[in-house]
Amino acid sequence: MPGLSGVDAGRISWVDTAQLTEAAQDNDSSLLRSLIQTIPDPIWLKDPAGVYLALNPACCRLIGRNEGEVIGKTDRDFFAADWAEFFRRKDLEALVADESRGNEEWITSPDGQRRLFETIKTPMYDAGGILIGVLGIARDITTFWEAQQQIRKSEETYRSLFDHMLNGFAYCLMLFEQGQPQDFIYLSVNAAFEAQTGLKGVTGKRVSEVIPGIRQTDPELLEIYGRVAAGGPPEQFEACVKSLGMWFSISVYCPKPEHFVAIFDVITERKRHEAMLEYLANYDSLTGLPNRLMINARAGQAIARANRQGTSLAILFVDLDNFKHVNDCFGHQAGDQLLRDAAQRLKGRIREQDALARMGGDEMVVLMEGLTREDDAAVLAKSLNEILHAPFLIGGHDFFVTASIGIALYPGDGEDIDTLLSHADAALYRAKSQGRNRFCFYTPELTARATERLLLEADLHRAIQRQEFVVYYQPLWDLGTGTMIGVEALVRWQHPEKGLVAPAGFIPLAEANGMIVPLGAWVLDEACRQMRAWRDRGFSLRRMAVNLAGPQIFRGDALAMVRQALETHGLPAHCLLLEVSETFIMDEGESGYDILCKLRDLGVELAIDDFGTGHSSLSYLKRLPINELKIDRAFVDGLPHDANDAAITRAIIAMATSLGLEVLAEGIETEAQRAWLSHLGCHRGQGYLFGRPMKPSDLERYLIPR
Ligand code: C2E
Ligand code: MG
Ligand code: MG
Repeated sequence: MPGLSGVDAGRISWVDTAQLTEAAQDNDSSLLRSLIQTIPDPIWLKDPAGVYLALNPACCRLIGRNEGEVIGKTDRDFFAADWAEFFRRKDLEALVADESRGNEEWITSPDGQRRLFETIKTPMYDAGGILIGVLGIARDITTFWEAQQQIRKSEETYRSLFDHMLNGFAYCLMLFEQGQPQDFIYLSVNAAFEAQTGLKGVTGKRVSEVIPGIRQTDPELLEIYGRVAAGGPPEQFEACVKSLGMWFSISVYCPKPEHFVAIFDVITERKRHEAMLEYLANYDSLTGLPNRLMINARAGQAIARANRQGTSLAILFVDLDNFKHVNDCFGHQAGDQLLRDAAQRLKGRIREQDALARMGGDEMVVLMEGLTREDDAAVLAKSLNEILHAPFLIGGHDFFVTASIGIALYPGDGEDIDTLLSHADAALYRAKSQGRNRFCFYTPELTARATERLLLEADLHRAIQRQEFVVYYQPLWDLGTGTMIGVEALVRWQHPEKGLVAPAGFIPLAEANGMIVPLGAWVLDEACRQMRAWRDRGFSLRRMAVNLAGPQIFRGDALAMVRQALETHGLPAHCLLLEVSETFIMDEGESGYDILCKLRDLGVELAIDDFGTGHSSLSYLKRLPINELKIDRAFVDGLPHDANDAAITRAIIAMATSLGLEVLAEGIETEAQRAWLSHLGCHRGQGYLFGRPMKPSDLERYLIPR
């Protein structure tokens, strides 16, 4: 079969392979010879005694003699004695081992050039297995060696460059997780790395192992690593390594895939300096409080938050009264100390979400967030003033300090911080001019309202302690039979100066500040005590209605309170009816529902008070465990002539009847109202027509002896 003897296009000639093989067998020594002659690497054959048997032209050139001059001679005839000895030893090593042996040999060529050869020496046998000698083949690797030397030298140069560099240097292998670089293995680091970080012997270790707690999961870092790993240009960033307590400026890049170089500078000092400058720019160095600049920025954020959340905020401008006097009479040091101590006290009084700043001199500002009522600001102003009342001990002297406070509210008193501050300042001026040691709102009506409320609150506290409350009772009437079916307990405040105060004057405040919980518990206990007393005196009274306020249900333990009142006075649960306002029931939803169910399970009856004023969901109403709806007085008022009131009342009665609930109309004052309601199927009522709320002794004339 013809074979391809040349691949140069257009000059292809074909030879018969069979012919070639035959020729080769006939004349194998001549074919081998031309093969060996052609190989560009020196090839030679020596007998076991080191005598050359054959060699190719390349070997002749190496030795610098022709074939005839070499054959029959040994290396001693051409090389220096020590080299000839070396070659001989290597020949023998291959012969003794009876296998190929390689080594590198420097040989000086006839023109005096020293060249490096990689030599392989192999024992050679004839067809009969008789040892012929050692076959040697050598390759000139001088150029390769020189290149290697160059690389080594440049590596050494770089190495020494990195080692002498002042920047820390780390060469790492990137470790990926889900395609994202997550950790690194140190391949090498320089001396500056060790000196600056204090980390020694890191080579071969993971970064996460060497620097515990380091977070390679910071999204910003991951993004940078991702970009450089994807072949992006070098990037620089600043990072704080908390466990080392150091800041670094780091340049990173990937010289080849998965290889990562980080060159860094320790910038902890610079960062500390920057932080210090920032602190000085934003904080007051005397008190450590934020300064005007800082509070301006915070107020901007607070206003944005208030807009989002639909809340308001207050700016309280606080100015220490007579501070100048302390400064003038006792020196600046005492003044400074007083400011520091006062700032500390004020700071301890504000909530975490609020801010206190020093504006300069003895002026401080509180930024109060999340305000739902303006009263909150008044309450805070009052408590800030109170906290300053205790004397300040400075330099062995007691100093008494008060403060004047001006309050501006967002959004009512201004839409931006500058307006709010200037209005709070105006209010402060008013507080000062009204005699100091007080607060003023920017709007005078607010000041009046808040002051009144605070006074009332203090009064109410005292009233509870002094037991200034009394319970009045109003008859509940059966409209059909004209008999009394029970009474409603209604609290009054026997005020030492104002006389008898109606619930409208204090119940809303007591509900807002939580005092209704103890007050309501007292009313319930008193009503139960009164009922027990009437029963014990032989009066028959079927039912006692007591009002239960929302906060008593969700802030107090209504169930325990009711159980205890009944138990204390030995009353059956069914004689008690608790009135809960419609608004509370609908606002509280499921949590209110649970408690009402438990009360109902106890055996007490439940009524929805002031029905029609809230926004009842009929489906919810249907599920509620209630017995009675009390139609609010507002609808009874216009009966029977007001068409709207009549329509609403009629609808409530119809709905109550269809839900199987009792219905009671409040505020019946005329016979016409009674007749109309009775005619429409409302069988219960309460109102001045039958009797006003009255003292227990007055009510007794309505009671029937058993
Ligand atoms: P309420 O529970 O709806 O009580 C009925 C109110 O209507 C009583 O007012 C009563 O005096 C008044 N009233 C009754 N009949 C008539 C009438 O024919 N004409 C007019 N104009 N008014 C009538 P009062 O006693 O001033 O109580 C007002 C509200 O204060 C009560 O409304 C109740 O919500 C609350 N309240 C009273 N005592 C307590 C209490 O001990 N605890 C709680 N949580 N709230 C109470
Ligand atoms: Mg009531
Ligand atoms: Mg009512």
